[in-house]
Amino acid sequence: MAQDPDCIFCKIVAGELPSLVVAEDEDTVAFLDVNPATPGHTVVIPKDHHRDLLTIDDETLARTTAAARRVAATITERLDVVGVNLLNNCGAGAWQTVFHFHVHVVPRYAEDPLRLPWIPAPGDRDEITATHAALTA
Ligand code: AMP
Ligand code: ZN
Repeated sequence: MAQDPDCIFCKIVAGELPSLVVAEDEDTVAFLDVNPATPGHTVVIPKDHHRDLLTIDDETLARTTAAARRVAATITERLDVVGVNLLNNCGAGAWQTVFHFHVHVVPRYAEDPLRLPWIPAPGDRDEITATHAALTA
């Protein structure tokens, strides 16, 4: 296993920090978030250290995503939810605080306080066209 000795999630994988594990397989582990957005908020990680979405290899990403989906299914089965959000924060500017790739699985409840973090509204056509050109040129 590739580990970073300074990484708190690697320490969880190594058993050096406590965690409440809800699922585990050869490549991944899922444990409850200590600052839950809602009850059952789970973090799903690869056991190997990968900094973020842009540096993790495709196969490990696929295994971690599949594990996150299994956690979402368990949450849907066992908790009184109305839905589940999967979230990845990539980069400090995008809310990432632990630099070991992870997927948040956030159970959603009727009347919970979470809100979409943007306000849907029609975009500026020129800006959308310019961004399309920047992404495809
Ligand atoms: P992010 O901000 O996307 O990097 O998410 C990191 C998440 O890890 C946050 O939701 C933290 O609450 C959570 N977290 C940090 N340390 C621990 C820990 N020791 N056990 C469980 N969750 C943790
Ligand atoms: Zn790590």
